[in-house]
Amino acid sequence: MRLPDYHTHSARCGHASGTPAEYVKAARVAGLLAIGVADHLPLLPEPDPELSMEACELGDYVGEVLELKAAFPGFVLLGVEADYRPETVSEARSLLESQPFDYVIGSVHHLGDWGFDDPRQMEGYSSRKIDDVWVDYFELVGEAAESGLFTILGHLDLVKKFGYRPTRVLNTELDRLMERISRAGVAIEINTAGLHKPVKEAYPSAAILLRLRGADIPITFGSDAHRPEEVGRDFAHAAGLARAAGYDSFATLEPDAAGGRAGVRQTQLPAAETGRPDEPGRAGNAAGRP
Ligand SMILES: [Zn+2]
Ligand SMILES: [Zn+2]
Repeated sequence: MRLPDYHTHSARCGHASGTPAEYVKAARVAGLLAIGVADHLPLLPEPDPELSMEACELGDYVGEVLELKAAFPGFVLLGVEADYRPETVSEARSLLESQPFDYVIGSVHHLGDWGFDDPRQMEGYSSRKIDDVWVDYFELVGEAAESGLFTILGHLDLVKKFGYRPTRVLNTELDRLMERISRAGVAIEINTAGLHKPVKEAYPSAAILLRLRGADIPITFGSDAHRPEEVGRDFAHAAGLARAAGYDSFATLEPDAAGGRAGVRQTQLPAAETGRPDEPGRAGNAAGRP
């Protein structure tokens, strides 16, 4: 599939396998348009060796991906996935500014101290009202959009990961979120990892994708690969989701020669491949963290 995969990890984060070079190789074999390596930024305020590299490893990570970027100009980008946590915004900002990232994926994985998508912390769902979890989550995602830290927001409806759905349609909340995202000018990824989690669908849902399209918000693609063989996984399905929502183009990131953040350009979505249904694959780990 001639699409870029801007969301991939590496063994440095402590819950993935493979080197950035192996992910780049997988992207070349899969015939992708480009690959962005976007491993987890050191977790703030406290490191967790199962969730991200440590701050002292960041320079090595960046150096390694920059070498690949130089070896495959225009094909490899240096990205990073950063957690949005209101109490660590200024620390995150200085870490992000300390390195020449082409782009930053912003993700909300925590509500306060609760890592709601962490299989080790699932008991947190039993002590909360699920609608409140969703409302609080979308509020934080809106803040993340407005923080100015991020190019792309990751897995926009991640709270559905384990199958916990709100009991009502969150119309007001979603309208407000679309407005905030649109004003902030960030892109949203279609993230295929959700297909391999208990919820068994991509992030975000088809209904949210329709709203994004309605608000003219650009989309990108990400597999959230935590193993090299997951690079570009289910991208035919993802392209089908984009087309079904009314998209005919997607955002590509163009590295800035002066060392700043990448520019964003619109590229035509490839046509559906005939004879190959947009069916997602079925293999994969069911409970790992995205
Ligand atoms: Zn991860
Ligand atoms: Zn994530």
